[in-house]
Amino acid sequence: MIGMSLLLLVAAQDPLAVRPDSAPPHHDALRYQVALQLPDSGFQITVSVAIGWQVTSPDPIRLNLDTVFSVASGSLNGVPATWNREGSVVVLPHEHSTGDTITTVITYSGTPTDGLIIQDGEDGHTFFADNWPDRARKWLASQDHPNDKASVGWRIRAPLGHTVVATGSLTTVDTTDRGVSWTFDMVEPTPVHTMVVGAARLTTTRLAPATCATRCVPMSVVSYPADSAKAVDGPFGRASEMIDLFTGLFGPFPYRELRHVQSSTRFGGMENSTAIFYGAGAWRTGRLSEATVAHETAHQWFGDAVTQADWHHLWLSEGFATYGAALWAEHLLGFEGLQARMNQSAETVRASAASARPIIDPSATDLMGMLNSNNYQKGSWVLHSLRGLVGDEIFFAGIREYVRRYRHGNALSRDFASVMSSVAETDLDWYFLQALTQPGYPILQVRTRELGAEVELRITQVQDPAWGLFRIPNLEVRLDDQLVRIDLEAREVVRTFTSRGEGPAVVEVDPDGWWLFGLASNGS
Ligand SMILES: [Zn+2]
Repeated sequence: MIGMSLLLLVAAQDPLAVRPDSAPPHHDALRYQVALQLPDSGFQITVSVAIGWQVTSPDPIRLNLDTVFSVASGSLNGVPATWNREGSVVVLPHEHSTGDTITTVITYSGTPTDGLIIQDGEDGHTFFADNWPDRARKWLASQDHPNDKASVGWRIRAPLGHTVVATGSLTTVDTTDRGVSWTFDMVEPTPVHTMVVGAARLTTTRLAPATCATRCVPMSVVSYPADSAKAVDGPFGRASEMIDLFTGLFGPFPYRELRHVQSSTRFGGMENSTAIFYGAGAWRTGRLSEATVAHETAHQWFGDAVTQADWHHLWLSEGFATYGAALWAEHLLGFEGLQARMNQSAETVRASAASARPIIDPSATDLMGMLNSNNYQKGSWVLHSLRGLVGDEIFFAGIREYVRRYRHGNALSRDFASVMSSVAETDLDWYFLQALTQPGYPILQVRTRELGAEVELRITQVQDPAWGLFRIPNLEVRLDDQLVRIDLEAREVVRTFTSRGEGPAVVEVDPDGWWLFGLASNGS
């Protein structure tokens, strides 16, 4: 293919395609088949994980698994295999060729210290996985990296009387004298950090299915019985309507069903594919908001179906989900509802120390630390300003094309930028480089003065020079009742306009709120 080597050379230096994650992918996990025994009492689990792989090199298979587990056996293609442990990695050598598909099985048992949260408390004996970002390995032997998605099947033995949920759809429930076995299947590839199970004395409340005009998406709420009323009159009352809205904006719902689950996650909500987990406490006390449900629902498209190939592109997940919640506000309250959410986000960004770093920050190493205002609020602003720049029609067509192209796969910021440029039929790289690789945001000093029959408008960028200069095409400025447009393409722009009488009493920059910026106090 012509130009291929040049393309590769460019890609290696492309700031929108940097991949600073330290975990290199070893082979391609295609399918996890997990057999999990949850104890009737106590905290010890027994697990068997079979993984179908496509071999990509002579390197051994390397599975992340916490050292608290003792591995009982390992096999490769059904034959007992040798394995060794290098700290929290189980290493299985193989002698297969690149392109071969092989199956490894390891069995292990132990008491997880994290990842699968097992509690004995007011809600009884409960089990909930909470994997984000790399805590699946604390209970599930896996290649625990968002860039290696796989399908997953489950066989979960749970105490009698428990309801079990898992990523995917329930296929069978078998009761034997040894307990109850639940099987689930997820055919779509999903990242390991969204492969979860939950088991407790839960009840399921069906919601109205969504998008039945095309293909019905079954919807349900799984909660402790005392908290099930919130399924209908609480934050889930319009959960199906969210799927309808987002299907129109982003394209078809990527999975076969969606459950909202009351769980033990440490997060307000965790977007596990097909089974969103929420913290039990906030749910119980009424602090779980509809905005959180909208955010997690949007993640089913962004984060789950299209997953960042590297943690440093987390805004592709969190920025999109945050904007999803803003779009829900727009759906309910109109443009003012959207503006209110975006203003809130802008205030958060302006108050945040994280703003001194770019959204794509190759120097970041702490994954939990990436849950910051850059990836959430500022990421949502990257989308909002882009929408203002290209218009609704192109913006949403670009979003749908991006989802269509990368659904059940992985993407980098480069991929999104290229899709948007192609749909907009204009090169938007300058915008994405500015929005994602420059720290900060513009701080504008706005001054006017009367010059006889004219008024002079002077806008100066006065932000920290370390943030660089920003380009804002078509910036709207309201001078009393006159709306003018300015291309801010330098540190300072000066324009004169015909004055309409007394000189402007009111100067408002960007009255519709399409850009994230700060205003400097007006010295003259
Ligand atoms: Zn999120």
